[in-house]
This record gives sequence, structure tokens and C-alpha cells, in this order.
Amino acid sequence: MLIDNHNRNINYLRLAVTDRCNLRCNYCMPAEGINFAKKDELLTTNELKTVAKLLVDMGIDKIRLTGGEPFVRKDLMELLHFLSGLEGLNDISVTTNATLIGPHIVQLKKMGVKNINVSLDAINKDTFEHITRRNNYDIVRENLYRLIDGGFNVRINFIVLDGQNEQDIIRMLEEMKDFPVGVRFLEEMPFNGGSKAFGSIKWDHKAILNHIVSHYPNYKKLESPKTSTSVNYQIEGHRSTFGIIPSFSRTFCGSCNRLRVTAKGDVITCLYGKPKANIRDLVRGENSIERIRLAIENAVGTRAKTGFEAQREHEASVFEASMTSIGG
Ligand code: SAM
Ligand code: SF4
Repeated sequence: MLIDNHNRNINYLRLAVTDRCNLRCNYCMPAEGINFAKKDELLTTNELKTVAKLLVDMGIDKIRLTGGEPFVRKDLMELLHFLSGLEGLNDISVTTNATLIGPHIVQLKKMGVKNINVSLDAINKDTFEHITRRNNYDIVRENLYRLIDGGFNVRINFIVLDGQNEQDIIRMLEEMKDFPVGVRFLEEMPFNGGSKAFGSIKWDHKAILNHIVSHYPNYKKLESPKTSTSVNYQIEGHRSTFGIIPSFSRTFCGSCNRLRVTAKGDVITCLYGKPKANIRDLVRGENSIERIRLAIENAVGTRAKTGFEAQREHEASVFEASMTSIGG
């Protein structure tokens, strides 16, 4: 088991497989993109397999693949195939923008991948194109419905962006009301890997909930797992549920069970802090397993207690990089 210095069991790895993406969501990156890593700076598939296996041996039982956009990586299915055969790994999940997943849906089902989070911040083509700066709305919708029909456990991640998509909050809930889907509204972390500073936000979790309940007064709060980052609800008569993730307000740190490894091998023990180690050179060097194990144990043994404490590790802005290099 991996236990941190605050007695939290770390069993969930968010593994970013690339920092590249085919969209340019305006809350995530500037229009021109970021300084993407060179190919040899990214962990290879074999290196990702080594790291994943070691971490599962150390106590990780859930891995979420993220990025950048995981499906821009041509060898993603090979990695997923490997993960699906890893003993001790009970849950393989993917977070995706759903633009490129279509050809892989049948195979994903066969492999036993159950949980797919689709990032979709609009239920209207113009709004989607404005936010993502690309015109993939129709294919994302098609893939979303294919995933739902295919029996995946689908969650939609919808970041509430002041002046951009608040009109779609209720539309999204209406559109999804007859489907077994969890719609999760996230507070925006106000940075985009560009010039935008980490300031304050209008749409915090309270404002989002007030907005929803003013339209749907009959709703109930649902029981959620202790480690859940979302507070979950269900509207009377809806098959779908909705959740709110206070990514900016961070009320969930006390039960945090997450570890992040970026596509470049940075080990991040808190989304709001700085990387605690880099395992890329270790995985490419001698005695790699023992050295990575030690690096992970050290990182997990010196975790900040909360995101606010971790944030103080940065001198100026909270994130020097875009979320596309961290994986969300
Ligand atoms: N490309 C994939 C996708 O969009 O689902 C996976 C990577 S993306 C960086 C992972 C998650 O981070 C997405 O759900 C995205 O909405 C979220 N994210 C990106 N920038 C964010 C920000 N500024 N605030 C809050 N969440 C953000
Ligand atoms: Fe790409 Fe995901 Fe970032 Fe959008 S949120 S630009 S889809 S990595």
C-alpha cells in the first residue's frame, strides 16, 4: 500500500500519456498551443508500461489515462491492452475529448474499460467551436452517444466558463435527462498555460448549484465515495445525475487518493503544487525499478496536506504549464 505522510491511502494514478492535443480549449491552452515536449522527452509505451506495473505493485488499483488528448497517441490501444491484463488493477478509465475515440470503442469495450470521461463544455455547436477553437462538435456528439449506447459508465466534464457557456448548463441537463450519465460541472481553474492569471472565479460550486436548483427545485443529494472530488445530486425525474467539482475552491483535499505522472515523467503529488520527482531518466537508467520505487516513496512521503499549502510551492503563478501537460 502507498500511504502518504498524512495517512491517506494513494491508490489512484492519473497517467498522462501525451501533452499534445487536437483541440485548443481556451481554458486549457492559448490558441497557438504551448511548447509541446519533443518526442524523446515523452515516456515511450514500454516505459509507461514499466511505470504502470511498478505502481500497481506498490498499491495503485485505479489508473486513469489522460493527457493532452490520449487518443492522439497512436500506440494508446497497446498500452490499454497491457493495462487490461495487469493483475491488481481493478479500474482503467480514460479522460478524452471524444474526437478520436470512435474507431476504438468496440475494442475498448472488449478490453473491459468501463469508465470514460468525456470533456464537453457545450451542447451547442457555436459555443463548442468558440471554446475549443475547432469544429469537431458533430463527431464528439456522435461518439458520446455511441459510448452511452455501448454501456460505458460515461461522465461528462463541463467546465463552467463565465460569459461563454453558462447558458448550456441547463440545456446539457435537459439533453442528458433520459440517459444513465453523470454530468459534472467543474469550477474553472483560471489559467490556460498562457497569460491568464490564477485569479478569482464567478462560477464557483455554490453559484453553479444555485443556478441549477433555481431551474430544478426538486433534487436530492446523493451518497458519494469518500474519495470523490464531486458532490453529487439527482434531479427528480432525471435518469442522469449531476455533480459539482470545486477544482478552484478545493474542498476535497482531506481524502485525496491521487498521484499524477505526466507524459514527461514528472511525479506530481498535488495538482496545485510542483512536481516532486522525475522518473524519465530513472526508467531509462540502471536499477530503474528500485530507483523509481524510492522516488515515488519519497514523493508520497512528503505530500502537502492541502492544495492551498501546495500552491505556496510556486513563486508567482500557480501553473507554469498548461493543464495539457499535467492531465487535469
Ligand atoms: N484532452 C482530454 C480531455 O479534455 O478530456 C484529457 C486532458 S484534459 C487536460 C483533462 C481535464 O482537464 C479535462 O476534463 C479538462 O476539461 C480539464 N481542464 C483543462 N483545463 C482546465 C482548467 N483551466 N480548469 C479546470 N479544468 C481544466
Ligand atoms: Fe485538449 Fe483536453 Fe486541453 Fe481541451 S482540455 S485543449 S481537449 S487537453
